Formats: sequence, structure tokens, C-alpha cells
Amino acid sequence: MQAQETGYRRFKIESRPAPHVYPIPNRFDVRARKIRLAAMLVHEAFEYRFEKEVVLSRPCIYGVFSGHFGGFKPLKHKCVGCMRCVQEYPHIMTVKPSEAYKKLGDSFWTPEMVYTVWNEASTGKIPVKGMGYKGAFGGEGFDGIWTDMSEIVRPTRDGVYGREYISTSVDVGRKPTSIDLDNVIETPRTIEIPLPIIFDELPNGTDNDDVQTAVALAAGKVGTLDVARETRLGRPGPENLLPLIDEEGIEDYEEKQPSILEFDAEKPSVLRKLLTRFDRSIIIGRLPLREDSGQVASELARQGVHGLHLYADYHGRDYSRDPRHISTALRDVHQQLVRDGLRDQVTIIASGGITLAEHVPKAIICGADLVGIDTTILVALQAEFLGETRNRANCGLRPRRINPEWGAQRLVNLMGVWHDQLIEILGAMGMRDVRRLRGDIGRSMMDSELREQSFKGIAWAT
Ligand code: SF4
Repeated sequence: MQAQETGYRRFKIESRPAPHVYPIPNRFDVRARKIRLAAMLVHEAFEYRFEKEVVLSRPCIYGVFSGHFGGFKPLKHKCVGCMRCVQEYPHIMTVKPSEAYKKLGDSFWTPEMVYTVWNEASTGKIPVKGMGYKGAFGGEGFDGIWTDMSEIVRPTRDGVYGREYISTSVDVGRKPTSIDLDNVIETPRTIEIPLPIIFDELPNGTDNDDVQTAVALAAGKVGTLDVARETRLGRPGPENLLPLIDEEGIEDYEEKQPSILEFDAEKPSVLRKLLTRFDRSIIIGRLPLREDSGQVASELARQGVHGLHLYADYHGRDYSRDPRHISTALRDVHQQLVRDGLRDQVTIIASGGITLAEHVPKAIICGADLVGIDTTILVALQAEFLGETRNRANCGLRPRRINPEWGAQRLVNLMGVWHDQLIEILGAMGMRDVRRLRGDIGRSMMDSELREQSFKGIAWAT
């Protein structure tokens, strides 16, 4: 008899390098003033009596000057922007963001976001930012939310490699609020997934077969869900598929009885049909975020929906007359459900504008149970930016030809590195379970609120 494995198995996503297939621009333009460099080399040669080791020593530990021509022909793709060479030789070196790099993305996807996702997908490693963070400490949307890291000294802090297990599993579905032990006829309709991230439906016109296969393979490897409007025969990973069903498609799916499905909740009459015909499935209503989404969500929860998939546009703006960031819209829906005593009964999935690892815990703090990624999938697969990506019907991203296995590994790497970063942030907050973070707004600080508290009533000199 085979010995049974004791203890728990730590959930870990195995990354493997999946280098870029299409060339990417250099991030930095490294230049040396050649005459000054030559003069310095001659001067040093005489000063150090032609001691080869000293004269040929290079200031860059990343190997930018390790080619045959040294500083005369720097290997720009290796530069990480640490600025050491500029600090040591300010009269010779200049390092600036390259023009091609500055053109990446669109009005929402900054070059840094594109680069971060590319490199996370390629290496599966947490990005390390040169000489530390050089950007602003507040801003719009998710950049205006700071997380409370006051527990950073606790043992949970060493989460990724450490002793204490931090759970990132979430439940999708509806939980009963009470159990009648004399009349247990219904089991809770929930499924557990090991991380609070799913792959959402891809933008219109971008879901070619290779991309879909890559997403489905990655969903299977990671153990998450993959939202798609139609199932294709022979497509891998059907057990991870979260089909998006419209009224006409109900009959096709009736025989299959998927364990989980989504429907367009803007047509609430469909819900009654689904609840009767799919009596063992988890039914998620898909709803655009608007000013009245809180009331609509409450009504759907009362009617028996098991979860809500709330989406903003691809730039993370909701569909209100005066568009708000998804974080604000989510807080409204979450708080409405809490007021109505319904929040614990339904799962909330949030998507639209989730493009960086830090957006996952921030969306959860604002009230989501888990998030869906969409354009981020295409960026990780090196899709081309052809224009603005905001519009769901006409997104300016065009997928390139890819090998599905390569694409799946890129997405697995991305999920692995986002999972690691989620564990880092939960550890720093002293939390051992991501479920506890949901709606815990007290563990965050809002830039706008802090500004108001600090500066309200103080006149600005103009
Ligand atoms: S900025 Fe840093 S990485 Fe780039 S060339 Fe200079 S020393 Fe090397």
C-alpha cells in the first residue's frame, strides 16, 4: 500500500521562461559621449599604467557595456535604468527612456504597465525596479488606494517563501445563510478556485483559436476559470470553462448541465429559466457597472442568482453617465448588498481595468471576491496596440499569431507572479486568507480622502 502524503500541499504555480517571440523595444536609450569616453580611457590607461583590469573595468553590473566595443556600443536591451553609470560618469553617460518605449500602450496602458506585464509573462518573476520606486505616490483609480502594510514585521510577512501558509482560495457561488438540519435537501452551490483571478471573455474579434486554446490550457494548469461565449468542440479544458450563455443557447447547454455558467443579467427574465433548467449549476449574472448597479444587484440576489460578474470598460471606467472608476462603483454595489443583508449570499467577480498585480487586492478591498482579466491576457500574449483599448465592442488590440503552448505558459507565468505578489501583500497586512480581505476598506487608505482631511480649508496660493 502506498504511504499517504501527510500535511498540506502549498499551492504554487510553477513558472518556466517563455521569452518574447516578437521583438520588444529597449526600455532605455543608453548613450555615451564618445570623445569624452575615449579621453577618459586614455587618461586612465596612463594613470593606472596600462593595468588591464582597472582600465577595462565597467560600471554596469547588468552587462550593458560587456560587448566588444564597451561603452562605444552599449547593449541597450540589458539596461534596467539603475542610473549607476550616470552617477559615476555624469559627464559621459546619459540614460533616458527610449522613444519607442514611450509610444507603447494607449491613454490607459502606460509603457510601464505594458512592460511589466510582458516581463511577468516572460519570466514569471516579480518585477524589481532598479533603484527603487521613482514614481508618484498617489493618483487616479487604483493608484489612489494605498494598502495598510502595518503588519509587515509579523511572521506572515515571509509569505511567499515562508513558514506560514497564506490561502488565496476563493469560493464562487451562493452560500446558504442558515441550515435547517431537519430538512437538508440542498447542498451549497459553490466551487473553490485556488486564486481570486479568472480569465474573462476576450474582446470582440480578438478570440482567435490559438489565443482561446492558450487561455483554456492556462486555466486548466492554474485551476481557474475561463469565461467564453461558446464552447468549441475539441477545445481543451472544458472543466475550466465558464460558458456565457444567452437565451437562445439555453437548450444547447441543457444536456451538458455545466457546473457553472454566466448569463447577461441585463435580461433578468432569463434568470428564472436558468434557475429551473440548471438546478445544479452555479448561475452568475453578468452586469455592466452603472449608478444603479447596487439596486439591480440586490434585486438579482433576492431572485436567487448565485453570483454577479460586474464589469467596467477596459480602462476601468463604469458605464454611468458620469463614469467612475471601477473601485468606486464596486464599493457602491458591495455596500448596498451589505445594507440589504445579502452580501454573504452572492459572489462578486469584477473585471475591466485589472491590469497589474496590485489591482487584485485593491479590487477585493473594494468589495469583489475575485477579479477577471481581459485585455491583460492579450498584452501578455504580445498583442499589438492599434489604438485605444477602452471600448468592449471595438478594442484596439490585435492578437498576433502564437503557439498555444507558448501562450499558455505566458499566462501561467503571469498568474504565478500575480499570486506571489498577492501573497506578499496579504503577508504585509498580516492576513492569512484572501477571503478576509473582501470589502475590508479599513485596511486601506484613500488618497483623495487623506488629501481632504489634511488640506480641507487651507487656501492654495496660485
Ligand atoms: S543605468 Fe544601470 S543598467 Fe543601465 S547602463 Fe547604466 S549602470 Fe547599466
